[in-house]
Amino acid sequence: MNVLVTGAAGYIGSHAVRMLLDAGHQVTAIDNLSRGHWQAVDRRATFCRLDLAQTDELAEVLARSRTDCVMHFAALAYVGESVAEPLLYYHNNTAGTISLLRAMTAAGVMRMVFSSTCATYGQPEQTPIVETAPQHPINPYGWSKRFIEQILSDFAIAQPQFAFVALRYFNVAGAAADGTLGEDHRPETHLIPLVLQTALGLREAVTVFGVDYPTADGTCIRDYIHVEDLCTAHLLAMECLRPGEARFYNLGIGRGYSVREVIESARRVTGRDIAVRYGARRPGDPAVLYADATKINRELGWKPQYTELDAIVESAWRWHSSHPDGYL
Ligand code: UDP
Repeated sequence: MNVLVTGAAGYIGSHAVRMLLDAGHQVTAIDNLSRGHWQAVDRRATFCRLDLAQTDELAEVLARSRTDCVMHFAALAYVGESVAEPLLYYHNNTAGTISLLRAMTAAGVMRMVFSSTCATYGQPEQTPIVETAPQHPINPYGWSKRFIEQILSDFAIAQPQFAFVALRYFNVAGAAADGTLGEDHRPETHLIPLVLQTALGLREAVTVFGVDYPTADGTCIRDYIHVEDLCTAHLLAMECLRPGEARFYNLGIGRGYSVREVIESARRVTGRDIAVRYGARRPGDPAVLYADATKINRELGWKPQYTELDAIVESAWRWHSSHPDGYL
């Protein structure tokens, strides 16, 4: 298939581009490079530096590349930043997706796999979280994605040829098996990279945000899903798209690990000491988040290959230890 990937220079998009190419698809990779790294984009893809707001240019690229399906990863994804600058998030993520849908309509492209997030659930009433759980986001980032889900649903009703799958990610982690692609956020806010950068001596210590949660060891529990397992799900989702399909799937491994367990795992994997400080809770962090991913398993046959935390951390370590400065 001809696939256009937005956010192709980002952490997840860059892994998806490579996996699509390896599976024999033709890939057009677009990114505005505001946060992504051009070095992460596989050279076999056709790269265009474009912003989602450039509707006409997007339509032209979609038509020229004879795109069959769009994989839409492009988004700003810092919760704290979204609270400080909500308009930036609604503009880039939500309005950007409207622009992309207009471009797709103009070019006659009617299939999309959309990167959504478990942040659309907010503080869950129950775990594991199922797709039918109430969606009450607690920050503009979560709302920006929740709105997109609604827009996609409405658009699918108005345009019976349109089909989409929205994948609600839990905590994406790890790196390409060969260690040549990985996570490089600036600033970095995610736990596993921060812990591994501490192991490398790039940071003095990692701060645990809260030890008084109602969990076994007092720290937050999250569902860490490997980036390659996540990308595999996108390929499966793309293949199931038929006119009129509107599907939502949770993507996690279905079990959670605590912050302390992540740090212990990193100590085992790296064989290094990792200094820890204990700090206050981070506002807006639910105690426990993990997915019920049985729906995607049942309907698309998706199963994670990485189910053990050490294996996920080990793959992230391969990237961080060989690229301490990230993409240069
Ligand atoms: N966390 C932490 N210290 C940090 C960064 C994160 O204790 O420096 C915790 C955070 O409170 C959460 C978990 O690690 O419980 C995962 O956080 P991350 O930012 O990686 O992902 P999120 O769950 O926010 O999507």
